[in-house]
Amino acid sequence: MRRILVRFFLIVGITIATVGVGFTFWLRDRYVVPIITYHHVGVPSDRSLFLNTVSAESFERQMQFLKRNGFEIISFDSLVKGIHRGFLFRRDTVLIQFDDGYEDNYVNALPILKKYGFPAMEFLISDLIGKRGFLTWDQVKEMEENNFVMGAHTRTHAYLPDLSPQKMRDEIVGSKKIIEQHLGHSIDYFAYPSGGFNVPAKQIAKEAGFQAAVTTNRGKDRYNEDLYELKRIRINDRDSRFGSIIMWFKLSGYYNLFRKSKDGE
Ligand SMILES: [Zn+2]
Repeated sequence: MRRILVRFFLIVGITIATVGVGFTFWLRDRYVVPIITYHHVGVPSDRSLFLNTVSAESFERQMQFLKRNGFEIISFDSLVKGIHRGFLFRRDTVLIQFDDGYEDNYVNALPILKKYGFPAMEFLISDLIGKRGFLTWDQVKEMEENNFVMGAHTRTHAYLPDLSPQKMRDEIVGSKKIIEQHLGHSIDYFAYPSGGFNVPAKQIAKEAGFQAAVTTNRGKDRYNEDLYELKRIRINDRDSRFGSIIMWFKLSGYYNLFRKSKDGE
């Protein structure tokens, strides 16, 4: 009887250990460095912008959350190099990123990022730089001097899957060239407007010389193995309002496992 019991517990123990080790490996392979996305930081100028706006107070609270909890904020270069090399990132790694190049990013977000010493990334719509509400070239340069890396986000924010191949090329390659001419160095990263991409858009981004491209929750690859459809997580005003549960979840590295993914187009 005793021998049977010993054997039973041995089998149960080995099974639990095997499942545990397997699960640990499964989780390890599914961890994705969260790329958090912001648009406007400040007061929304009209109601339609509400979802795309985080108040300066919430933004500060969210940055404070990252600092207090010891998150490591990495640059886009580190992320791309790490993915290339199959590097195992720390479980508390985060990348901060802004879309569209709004002037309020310079006015409201930059001082807070400087205060916390966090690097960030900005995707610029090249033909809108200097227009009302958007960053000027001087502001872009000052942001670069303060730990910002600039990326391209097309010339006019056109939805790429709707465009002819020629127009698509002009939007993608054109934005890269214009920004490079103004800043005098290479622009290595690209963001698809509204996350919309298809096979030709990815191909053109690769051929243009971009090292990586980001989308929203679109595409098949949930685990950011494909550098030309990296998933991003939008952070909004409410995420830090009710305790920090949503922030923890969105920054866990496993958020992509639970959210719906859409087709690229
Ligand atoms: Zn955009």
